[in-house]
Amino acid sequence: MKIRLISLSIVFLSFIPLAISQNTVQDSIMLKKIYTAALTQGKSYEWLDHLANNIGGRLSGSIEAEVAVKYTEAELKELGLDKVWLQPVMVPKWTRGFKEYAYIETLSGDKTIVDICALGGSVATPSLGIKAEVVEVNGLEELAVLGKEKLSGKIVFFNRPMDPSLIQTFAAYSGVADQRYSGAMEAAKYGAVGVLVRSLTLLRDDNPHTGAMSYGDTPPERQIPAAAISTNGAEYLSSLLKLQPDLKFYFKQNCKNWGDVPSFNVIGEIKGSEYPDEYMVVGGHLDSWDLGDGAQDDGAGVVQSMEVLRLFKKLNYTPRHTIRVVLFMNEENGLRGGKKYAQEAKRKGEKHRFALESDAGGFTPRGFTLDCNDANFKRVESWMSLFEPYLVHFLQKGHGGADIGPLKGNIDVLAGFLPDSQRYFDYHHAATDTFEAVNKRELELGAATMASLVYLFDRYGTK
Ligand SMILES: [Zn+2]
Repeated sequence: MKIRLISLSIVFLSFIPLAISQNTVQDSIMLKKIYTAALTQGKSYEWLDHLANNIGGRLSGSIEAEVAVKYTEAELKELGLDKVWLQPVMVPKWTRGFKEYAYIETLSGDKTIVDICALGGSVATPSLGIKAEVVEVNGLEELAVLGKEKLSGKIVFFNRPMDPSLIQTFAAYSGVADQRYSGAMEAAKYGAVGVLVRSLTLLRDDNPHTGAMSYGDTPPERQIPAAAISTNGAEYLSSLLKLQPDLKFYFKQNCKNWGDVPSFNVIGEIKGSEYPDEYMVVGGHLDSWDLGDGAQDDGAGVVQSMEVLRLFKKLNYTPRHTIRVVLFMNEENGLRGGKKYAQEAKRKGEKHRFALESDAGGFTPRGFTLDCNDANFKRVESWMSLFEPYLVHFLQKGHGGADIGPLKGNIDVLAGFLPDSQRYFDYHHAATDTFEAVNKRELELGAATMASLVYLFDRYGTK
């Protein structure tokens, strides 16, 4: 029985066009070379070490962001690419100032210090801070129910947690991020004096996680300060509120919005041998939040993207299309770099075929999300067997990435590199997002996985 099955499969295999099987063999050899080079002679970890430990957190408009621009430009120039340049872009500058301070004051006058941090873009509190009663809510929709009567003069405490039952943690994050982004804008409409938001993490610890917030059209005199509170702090505050609904919360923060300042996207390219005027982009964002050193978000994506071009040079691979690495500025609090890149691409009439973003951390690669038509999706599906030896299996239609998003309409395929996401939000936007949180091998596997997809799209083109 077994023998018969084998002979049947040989007959079947002989019908596969020779060209396809030769391509597959050639591609699997190339992928093996890419992974081996990344794991044995990789440079991504060394770059990340410098970016994280020698430069540090790279908030848009900061000295660190400026140094990171110069450093990555110099490193890309070392790779012998055909062109490396800086693309000017104006970015918002916001500074945290002195560390925030907060405590819960119970009716007996006891004070317990809790860990908070200002949300990015928030205004400061008055110089003496704010002390007020707290109203806990489970989401933006509860504000209208409570109304001005219950919320005026209060600090609104958004405490809806990320849903731990969701396997893809980005979905859990998306499910609660509106509290952080719009909480202050919405609460101000009901006369609230400040906003506290439960940190967007599944971890229970004392680290507050910052992130972007917006005031929308709220006039400056009605903008209220917004802070993230650690999950331990949020649990503690919530439990105390059940015992003493009229306890008071005090917080003081010293942040400031400075308006726009000049900065840059960092770009390097290898000219395509057959289609020099058709572009394939790989990138991450160079800016980061300021509490940690931004190694996971998005130092990892930056160095992995640089590594893709370095691997191609190292392996003497001559791409058919022009391959660009773009290190975008200001993803975290404005997306100005991504918008500028897309705007310039459109203005110059540059035909973009494919873009891949790495902005989900430097963890073990799982696969990709794709924003494209069915023909391109099926094409990537047909390549997935090539990724099997590297334990990369996941493919789903979905969002490519924030920075490459503005290219939509002038591009065939937007792809997001998807590493394992279980630990990402432990570090995301917190002081714990440091170099130590990134594993060298996982980072390198990610770079190789990205290089492999770029290689396949370059070799076969988009549909
Ligand atoms: Zn990011």
